[in-house]
Amino acid sequence: MSRLLIIGCGGVASVAIHKCCQHPEVFTDICIASRTKAKCDALKAKLTPVTATRITTASVNADVKEEVVALIRLYQPDAVLNLALPYQDLTIMDACLETKVHYIDTANYEPENTDDPEWRKIYEKRCKEAGFTAYFDYSWQWAYKEKFQKAGIMALLGTGFDPGVTGVYAAYAQKHYFDEIETIDILDCNAGDHGYAFATNFNPEINLREVSANGSYWENGHWVETKPMEIKRVYNFPQIGNKDMYLLHHEEIESLAKNIPGVKRIRFFMTFGQSYLDHMRCLEDVGMLSTTPILYEGKEIVPIQFLKALLPDPSSLGPRTKGKTNIGCIFTGKKDGKEKKLYIYNVCNHEECYKEVGSQAVAYTTGVPAMIGAMMVLTGKWKGEGVFNVEEFDPDPYMEALNAYGLPWVAEEDPTLVD
Ligand code: NDP
Repeated sequence: MSRLLIIGCGGVASVAIHKCCQHPEVFTDICIASRTKAKCDALKAKLTPVTATRITTASVNADVKEEVVALIRLYQPDAVLNLALPYQDLTIMDACLETKVHYIDTANYEPENTDDPEWRKIYEKRCKEAGFTAYFDYSWQWAYKEKFQKAGIMALLGTGFDPGVTGVYAAYAQKHYFDEIETIDILDCNAGDHGYAFATNFNPEINLREVSANGSYWENGHWVETKPMEIKRVYNFPQIGNKDMYLLHHEEIESLAKNIPGVKRIRFFMTFGQSYLDHMRCLEDVGMLSTTPILYEGKEIVPIQFLKALLPDPSSLGPRTKGKTNIGCIFTGKKDGKEKKLYIYNVCNHEECYKEVGSQAVAYTTGVPAMIGAMMVLTGKWKGEGVFNVEEFDPDPYMEALNAYGLPWVAEEDPTLVD
């Protein structure tokens, strides 16, 4: 018997909630709470006839800690699964601390207003000291470690696919295949076609901020920063074929550099088609990706938020998207003194995801691990006091769950490496 409070009811949350409802033996009670309660009620109406999980819904503005605290006190959950936006991570963590309830999320903290002078001061210091300029980083959430330890609760950070499954793959490779991992290349390929000239597969604001930023990778103990899309490679993805991919900064590089001992290089590549890149460059050139508010006919608007309102809602892409995703990690290193290579990956089919839960594969590949992370915490398979990234726990039960609940993986021992 367990009670889970899920905050957010967008693309990723919808999949996680469908999957929780497939496992009422673990998720006996869930509360879906979001800014727009009507979305939570619609999902409840759809799922109640087909699940034994008891679903309640609530309205919450997770930017306001007191609202989250009040909801936690009312619902009395065993854990909170944050599937709203990275902007809400800290208020929800604060609410969990105050009520002594476990916290789980899929993306690290990023401020909504990157012009906020107080945040900017800390950010600029971090850029100088750490050597990367991404707006998001783990320092804000890692800083809660002692407070969570004292409260006797855990925070599980980043249990989506990347970050999430990629970190679990790394822990699994370390446990079963290597004495020492030297390099990790994380490859995220989406070969899906939704038929639009331009759309993003998850929240457009978060997605476009990430993709238009400088790239960076970890090498020999420090960050190497690149211009956006500066490093391009072509890779022949299993079950997909050749695709162009570009080096991006990504949050799990930061935690893996800390948690995989002796690792010398970690890179992250994502595939993009030429049409996506051309549209993005154009939007950026005309200022549409800016997060700085402008005055338009007497009203303040944030260009990237206005753009989000124009673009297709990612949750509407499900019925139109065909093709597959392939996300995985290539590891090199040593075992028993010999060189070793390993590629662990998952291939997911957009149309099959849509048939099962009414969403495309990008939401599916994030929502399923979010459910599995919550399952690890609620069943006590992963236990701790403090703030943790997924690779800090035993990967085996999570890897079994991936096979059982929709994201089976392949471990290939002689992959082609990325140069
Ligand atoms: P969506 O925009 O589809 O959904 C976000 C949801 O959060 C919406 O229901 C929204 O409500 C709600 N929300 C936003 N602000 C608030 C607030 N202040 N209070 C309460 N609810 C709020 O996003 P996605 O589902 O695409 O993404 C969800 C999360 O998953 C993001 O953090 C994203 O970064 C992460 N992600 C992680 C990945 C991984 O592999 N680790 C991959 C993809 C995404 P409303 O409906 O009113 O707008």
